[in-house]
Amino acid sequence: MTPAELTEWVKTQGLPAFRGKQIFQWIHRGADWPEMTNLSAALRAQMSDIAIAQPVRIQLERVSQLDGTVKFLFSLPDGNCVEGVLMHYHYGYSLCISTQVGCRMGCKFCASTLEGCVRNLTAGEMLGEILAANRYLREKAPAGEGEAAAPRVSHVVLMGSGEPLDNYDQVMKFLRLLREPEGIQISLRNVSLSTCGLVPEMRRLAEEDLPVTLCVSLHAPNDEIRRRTMPIANRYSMAEILEACRYYIAKTGRRVIFEYALSDGVNSGEDQARELAGKLRGMQCHVNLIPLNVVKERDMKGVSEKTVTRFLRALEAEHISATRRREMGDDIEGACGQLRRTTLAKNT
Ligand code: SAH
Repeated sequence: MTPAELTEWVKTQGLPAFRGKQIFQWIHRGADWPEMTNLSAALRAQMSDIAIAQPVRIQLERVSQLDGTVKFLFSLPDGNCVEGVLMHYHYGYSLCISTQVGCRMGCKFCASTLEGCVRNLTAGEMLGEILAANRYLREKAPAGEGEAAAPRVSHVVLMGSGEPLDNYDQVMKFLRLLREPEGIQISLRNVSLSTCGLVPEMRRLAEEDLPVTLCVSLHAPNDEIRRRTMPIANRYSMAEILEACRYYIAKTGRRVIFEYALSDGVNSGEDQARELAGKLRGMQCHVNLIPLNVVKERDMKGVSEKTVTRFLRALEAEHISATRRREMGDDIEGACGQLRRTTLAKNT
């Protein structure tokens, strides 16, 4: 709930309006009813029966031996589960969150979409993923340093399972919750939203006045190749996507990031790098190259380091800003959808 919604709600419970603000503050600090010490014990007991303050729990965690990246399997109140990944960078902790249980976009290389979309996450559940990660960091922090010193999530990427722009309203509500003065106050400049290219929603997002970084999963230099791996490419052309990106850049003044997962025999040739460069020329953008992460249920291949380097050099020669994305948590099924699938498979 927003502060205004929570204030209305506490009034329906026969409580004074200021309780709404108190409860909002507590929820965003990760507290559940028993810990809300400025509420009377009787009130806390009454509340614990009728609402859930912290909807997201960590069902499973795996810590990478390579780089300390943590993969979470979060459980939701209805028994569904989604994945999140916590990464430690020099600038802080970044959490990759899911926006839907599963996904209905059907990309051929992705594990999240194999069984379609079960349901959208609510704004509260998305926030709950961050609060659960903050609780985890607090519990792991050295004892005696106090709550204020415990590390927290400072950056958020909407790159877990789901298509954020297919769950538009709840995602917008979630983004606005992040910057509430009484909330967890994560700057939207530290938030990246990734889409497979839902053009009308990209344009709508440009008009929201929310300074998030827009990332677009391109994965191809032209429509023909894109249609082979991404069903959404049958609905919107690359020309329409790039036009929506230009609109986003013009409206927000922020550069757009293109994600490009390289797959052998599909999109990784130097000619294709040059074709891509031709389309992006003059645009305020950056290309993130990712060697495709092989998903065992899919028949798409990854690429060698040499192929990545060649593709990168070809883009650079055309003056396109590009980097090879650092892989983290490779030993813990860090890529989206994989951990949930193996866990579901074990439990059935
Ligand atoms: N639906 C959104 C958000 C998912 S973000 C989107 O499509 O952008 C997850 C990113 O990982 C996307 O760029 C997605 O295309 C990419 N991805 C999915 N499966 C992958 C795989 N097996 N290897 C590399 N990248 C993959």
